[in-house]
Amino acid sequence: MSRKKIVAGNWKMYKTLPEAMETIGTLTHALAVQSPKENVEVWIAPPSVILPMIIHNYHNRGISFGAQNCSEHKEGAYTGEISAAMIKSVEAQFVILGHSERRAYHHENDTLIHKKIRAALSNQLIAIYCCGETLDQRNAGQHFDIVRKQVTEALSGFNADEMSNIVIAYEPVWAIGTGVTASPEQAQEMHALIRETLRQLFDGKVADQMHILYGGSVKPGNAAELFSQPDIDGGLVGGASLVASDFTGIIYAA
Ligand code: PEP
Repeated sequence: MSRKKIVAGNWKMYKTLPEAMETIGTLTHALAVQSPKENVEVWIAPPSVILPMIIHNYHNRGISFGAQNCSEHKEGAYTGEISAAMIKSVEAQFVILGHSERRAYHHENDTLIHKKIRAALSNQLIAIYCCGETLDQRNAGQHFDIVRKQVTEALSGFNADEMSNIVIAYEPVWAIGTGVTASPEQAQEMHALIRETLRQLFDGKVADQMHILYGGSVKPGNAAELFSQPDIDGGLVGGASLVASDFTGIIYAA
């Protein structure tokens, strides 16, 4: 089964509007000079407040833009929240959900994340669903059970059509922003387990078609080996997506 590769950048809470415009300008210029391989897609999730301006200036320049979170609610008195419909209305294409920083600092669990995915899909956004174990869980030998449980709780109940609009990002918490990357073997065995879980929950077609990205200290120097694993379909990149030359290094490695 040949799947496209997705290299997605998560900018977290970095970059003001001028900084963001400069980075996207540099990036789109670089991608115009040297195109990524035909089967490689480039996605970026800037801070939401900056999203409409970036889309307005840089749509159709080879990058898809999305948000880093959305509310599970349609609308209402939820101060500070942003709905999936609002994200869609500025012509964004995807939303990252269940990132480990949302789980850790905002107490998100897979029941809530399921509702957020439902809100995203109802508004024709692609949902990037993040999962992954902590270091303690891995050291205790629980990592496979934890990730299987996360995927099962968050994704059970969607139909095959809906699943085709979900991308999974396996991001071991111990590798995010730490400079410690999962080895290609560690990442591949978890991606294979996620695909097997999808086969059991849904069917072979859903499992084979799912794009499963690896996230956790991906850099230009380690991307090629990670992305060449049979079940790794690209990466969700934090720190290295903030610097245009690092991010293009990762894109060209895909
Ligand atoms: C992330 O935040 O999704 C991430 C993978 O961060 P980093 O690449 O910096 O580890």
